[in-house]
Amino acid sequence: MASQAILTRALWSAQAHMPTVLGQEIEIVGGDGSYVTTATGQRLLDATAGLWHANIGHGREELARAAYDQMKRLETYHVFGRFVNDTALGLADRLAAYSPFADAKVILTSGGSDSVDTACKLARRHWQLEGRTSKKIILSREYAYHGLHAYGTSIAGLKYNREGYGTESLIPETGLIDNSDINRVEAEVLRLGPENIAAIITEPVMGTGGVIPPVPGYLEGLQRLAAEHDILLIADEVITGFGRTGTMFACERYTFKPDLLLMAKGITSGYAPLGGVLVAPRIWQRFYEGFDAPIYRHGTTYSGHATACAVAMANLDILEKEGLIARAGELEMVLDRTLESVRSHELVVEVRVGGFLGGVELSQSVDGTAVVDFALAEGVILRLLRGHTLQISPPFVVTEDEINTIVEVILAGIQSQAKVTAAV
Ligand code: PLP
Repeated sequence: MASQAILTRALWSAQAHMPTVLGQEIEIVGGDGSYVTTATGQRLLDATAGLWHANIGHGREELARAAYDQMKRLETYHVFGRFVNDTALGLADRLAAYSPFADAKVILTSGGSDSVDTACKLARRHWQLEGRTSKKIILSREYAYHGLHAYGTSIAGLKYNREGYGTESLIPETGLIDNSDINRVEAEVLRLGPENIAAIITEPVMGTGGVIPPVPGYLEGLQRLAAEHDILLIADEVITGFGRTGTMFACERYTFKPDLLLMAKGITSGYAPLGGVLVAPRIWQRFYEGFDAPIYRHGTTYSGHATACAVAMANLDILEKEGLIARAGELEMVLDRTLESVRSHELVVEVRVGGFLGGVELSQSVDGTAVVDFALAEGVILRLLRGHTLQISPPFVVTEDEINTIVEVILAGIQSQAKVTAAV
């Protein structure tokens, strides 16, 4: 018979083992700065910025006002065909000005997974129009996470996210490449045949795969292979965009030059669902010129949603006015320094920092979930990536003292596990 919890709760959570989650929900009802508050009144230090989204922190009145003002004037108007709305126009111009490559056009989307779909489809469409019709494969990296829409599922480098749908890849013509060894990537490109490859997609710093900064030479190697074999490059900056690595986009920091750059999360710091794709001239020109120019048959009702765009504008104002991108760069050094105490712990395999993003990889003998639960009881929200890496990605408004607290709690959590391990 169904339990009371099953009968009374309608919300089906994302990425959740429902029998475990039911009755154990952490219900968040408020947020301010680097903290969120639960329905039972507990104040939690948000060491992950939610799902890496709350760059400017929670509860900022300016964004609520921006949404209110926009909605009162015009909630939204679509951007299909001849119609546009003024706020989407303004935001697109601003994003194009931030672009790490010149003369970008901007497609606005409703979030990260939508940006992934938009870009992968566009890459394939590009080669069809070029007459190089065999170029269809989208290559992604082992452990990559590109959201969970059909394309994101098909190019997932985390196997558990792509399994169970009856075929190896929901969308055909995808492939995985090595995460760190560029020679193996090159071998795979040659094996598949560059004439069959449309694009390579990569996160500059891998997030959900375990916070993995690029090994020296890897991104440069992708750049070289793309140039040599006429393969498009897609940078997935859904996590790294809008300051997370101390520059507006990680592509600047790593001097990576993609043809398509994907955005979401930090574009509004989570205050409204929005994403986008920066498109290089090589791809957009064909769609813009000539009477017989093709149409990119893509878009959704909420592409360029005016209220989401107004919120993004206010978010970008705050990032600029408060110097939060430079601050994220400084906080990266603080985090790196503070994590020194964790690095040498015998139950820690590796500590990785790439931007204001940290990953603490725990030894397999440690129960990572127990460490996360320990931290929660101590008032700090952490998250486990790939089963054994702790995610640290606080809002850019976090203080140095709070970073200390996060690291102290992690150490204490690991220590508590050391006792359990010794007792077994
Ligand atoms: N790409 C990357 C690198 C991500 O980390 C995520 C989400 O975590 C996505 C894409 C998907 O974004 P969304 O969850 O907004 O669809």
